[in-house]
Amino acid sequence: MLYRAPRGTNDILPDEVARWQHLESTFRNIVELYGYQEIRTPIFESTDLFIRSSGDTSEIVEKQMYTFLDKGGRSISLKPEGTAPVIRACIEHKLLSQSSTSRLWYFTPIFRYERPQKGRYRQAHQCGLELLGAKDAMADVEVMRITYEFYQNLGIQDVEVRVNSIGRKETRNTYQAALLDHVSGWLKDQSDEQKARTDKNPLRLLDSKEPELIELLKEAPSILDHLEPESADHFDEVKQGLSDQGVPFVVDHSIVRGLDYYTDTVFEVISNQIGAQGALCGGGRYDDLVEQMGGPSTPAVGVAMGIERALIATQDIQPPVSSRLVVVIAATEDRSAIDQTLDLLRSGGIPCTSEFSNAPMKKQFKEADRLGARLAVVVGDDEIANGSLTVKDMISFEQKSLDTKDALAHIRKLLS
Ligand code: AMP
Repeated sequence: MLYRAPRGTNDILPDEVARWQHLESTFRNIVELYGYQEIRTPIFESTDLFIRSSGDTSEIVEKQMYTFLDKGGRSISLKPEGTAPVIRACIEHKLLSQSSTSRLWYFTPIFRYERPQKGRYRQAHQCGLELLGAKDAMADVEVMRITYEFYQNLGIQDVEVRVNSIGRKETRNTYQAALLDHVSGWLKDQSDEQKARTDKNPLRLLDSKEPELIELLKEAPSILDHLEPESADHFDEVKQGLSDQGVPFVVDHSIVRGLDYYTDTVFEVISNQIGAQGALCGGGRYDDLVEQMGGPSTPAVGVAMGIERALIATQDIQPPVSSRLVVVIAATEDRSAIDQTLDLLRSGGIPCTSEFSNAPMKKQFKEADRLGARLAVVVGDDEIANGSLTVKDMISFEQKSLDTKDALAHIRKLLS
């Protein structure tokens, strides 16, 4: 084989597209119910945008970005996440005002140079929400509730919403000192690289996968004990709101999230069905980011959900059959009659196709099956002679010969 898709990328083939579309429409339905509007941003942005937003100590910026110089010598990066471009667009187009909230959703590919495995790819896709301009804890609850309902609507039963609060900068400064104190014995035996990483961002220790450290951290002080009163109150309101609105959750103080821009609430939804890469999504509050990126001070909360992981979690669930395709089967040499039938169907808004040359009928039916056709319409010399069409239901195998007008009504009814 001369070429293969680049490592860590996936082709989404026609027979998988139905599952993607089902997921996309489930997402769209729910976010529209809550009054969110779609926003689309470019695939690439200036590299500086992601350094500014994610923080230069974040793993994404340090190791994972697809960065290159364009022909004008500008440093460009393929977007590794969806939030920073949305914020950039909101600032640039003055969509933010002090007195109102914006509810936005997006669907985007993301690019990260990671070691590929099931559920982790170099090009992946995310759908996400950004609720901008709301300080209220109920905004956090809304975003988590929509996320939870989305997974419920997809039929993913076994999910766990894990919530934490990482407070404000001041909280993190005092907490980091306590954390470093707790791990100091362990840290002095670590590599220079680990020490440097810890030095840059001690909170990263909390999402380490290293067994010895995980064990040690079980006894570590909790960030929740270091929250400023305002953050503690906010977190209490979030938990109360989640309970009131029927969103089950657990508090997990190991959640700190990989991006530096979060403040107060952070959360993840985990599925136990999808293997090692169990996080279906991640989100939280990021009250300082808009200002940090040059916009007006704007509190905000959002979530990014991995599409591929949701698809893995739903792989045993068949999406509802949505094919509306009609295949016209030629049982005549008269090609113009076939073309007229195709025209008639299309002018009535009915999606249809046919083989170009007259293959045996059995082969044409087989092809219709392969295409997932909902109906077949047979056009033979008898049908041409008496102005009728024979409509075959490809699911129930029922067949009816009707006047052309009645046949069209029958087709519409079966497709609706
Ligand atoms: P993050 O932007 O890292 O918070 O990621 C949010 C969600 O996107 C994760 O919980 C995953 O479901 C998904 N995700 C992130 N990176 C990848 C990746 N490389 N491959 C597949 N899914 C990903």
